[in-house]
Amino acid sequence: MKYLVLIAVIAVVIWLIRAGRPPIASQSNESRATKSGASNPQEMAICPTCGVHFPVTDGIQGRAALYCSDSHRSSTEA
Ligand SMILES: [Zn+2]
Repeated sequence: MKYLVLIAVIAVVIWLIRAGRPPIASQSNESRATKSGASNPQEMAICPTCGVHFPVTDGIQGRAALYCSDSHRSSTEA
């Protein structure tokens, strides 16, 4: 009976360790994603000239939108 209690305690500890780690990891990931403002690693934009998707950080800022390249910006806004 003594060993049965010991085995039960060990099983509960193992279960708590296994069950406890993934939620803690996902919580920190979610808080990081919330802080950065997006769940995607990179925010994407669509070029109004050719419709191609590109990262916002690679875009060329026009008067009204982001463009994939300077030539598309100038051809649309000229
Ligand atoms: Zn384009």
